[in-house]
Amino acid sequence: MPPADFSEELTRIPTRKDSDQISQRIDHLYPSLFPLYTHLHAFPELSGQEIQTSRRIADELRSAGFQVTEGIGGHGVVSVLKNGDGPTVLLRAELDGLPIEEKTGLPYASTARGRLADKGEVGLMHACGHDIHMTVLVGTARLLMERRDLWQGTLVLVAQPLEEVGAGALAMIEDGLFTRFPHPDFALALHVAPSLAAGTVGLREGLFWAGCASLDIVIRGIGGHGSRPHETKDPIVMAAETILLLQTIVSREISPIEPAVLSVGSIHGGTKGNIIPEEVVLQVNYRYFSDATARHLRSAIERTARGVAVATGIAEELMPIVIDQYSGPPINNDPELAHRMISAFRGALGNEKVIRTDRYTFSDDFSQFGTHGSGIPLCYFLLGTAENQCDAEKVAANMASPGIHNPSFAPPPEQSIKTGVKAMVAAILELLPR
Ligand code: ZN
Ligand code: ZN
Repeated sequence: MPPADFSEELTRIPTRKDSDQISQRIDHLYPSLFPLYTHLHAFPELSGQEIQTSRRIADELRSAGFQVTEGIGGHGVVSVLKNGDGPTVLLRAELDGLPIEEKTGLPYASTARGRLADKGEVGLMHACGHDIHMTVLVGTARLLMERRDLWQGTLVLVAQPLEEVGAGALAMIEDGLFTRFPHPDFALALHVAPSLAAGTVGLREGLFWAGCASLDIVIRGIGGHGSRPHETKDPIVMAAETILLLQTIVSREISPIEPAVLSVGSIHGGTKGNIIPEEVVLQVNYRYFSDATARHLRSAIERTARGVAVATGIAEELMPIVIDQYSGPPINNDPELAHRMISAFRGALGNEKVIRTDRYTFSDDFSQFGTHGSGIPLCYFLLGTAENQCDAEKVAANMASPGIHNPSFAPPPEQSIKTGVKAMVAAILELLPR
């Protein structure tokens, strides 16, 4: 059994000389990684439209000496480097940006614009740090190519599209990620975390990030003149009742010691004050850490929507329609792998720089890599991006410094990228020792 916390006996310092040399090499590489980062940051692309980003990452990894295949599961890129006998490790970064207008004021801020099918033209931003993740992937690739003398085995570097819509990992798996390329024995990914100080990493064994599902509820009524509501079945009122009742599912039906979240993030219906519309569409997102909770939430959402319709007197043929959009399981860090990573990170970064975090209700479809095929052991970890610990505490307390998906999110590039590469290289040296 792994110890309950990060106890001292986990620390294993790799040869100090190697570690120092790697740090020096990262310092040396950084001036060439920074322009890559600012380029990626300035030109984000929407999920499913990652054409230029994907091409740039493919070029970078090809010129680093990897065997690169493009167009896996859409714009996904798979890069392989075989370096003698040994296990296979998959490292993943994401390609997509977000439909957010950047407000950082940085000299390399994005002014890019894209087009969403339902919203038209939108500003674009790497507000989830995927530009940091890609730069770390390229830095790690270059360094491990240079220092092939320090490890042996196979690296599979994955640049994944469509993470922000929860679809890219599955698309790549269905397009042969685990059959056309060396099958991974371990899979690793990191994510920026403004709640942790830059220079640190954070993780935990077991359940870490939540499972997530999104669905639409189409509430159908009978429209009419706003002056004669008694001749209609008003879907606006039904939507309001449904939203409030949905908020009692977690608070009244799920055990208080079982984490769950249910949010209605969008409500659309109607065109004018004096028209009672025919329908209202709610977009709902829910999060969980167990299959039982996921099943309960899903069925309670449908029951609640139907219940309000029944109470309103809606006929069976106009009952609400629930349309599942996407879902993905929680990230469950393999305990043995997580403990090996903790040990490697402590060796590379120092004991105090490796933080045992709580669970988070964020989600990431990286979890799909651990639940499909043979169930590859995963380890997902956080890369601190707060300028200092005080900043991190403020973010954690929701008081200051913008978090991810915020238009002012601005991680400090140098410390974040260097720490990310250092951690990823340390992980590979641990998993693929020579
Ligand atoms: Zn995101
Ligand atoms: Zn993200």
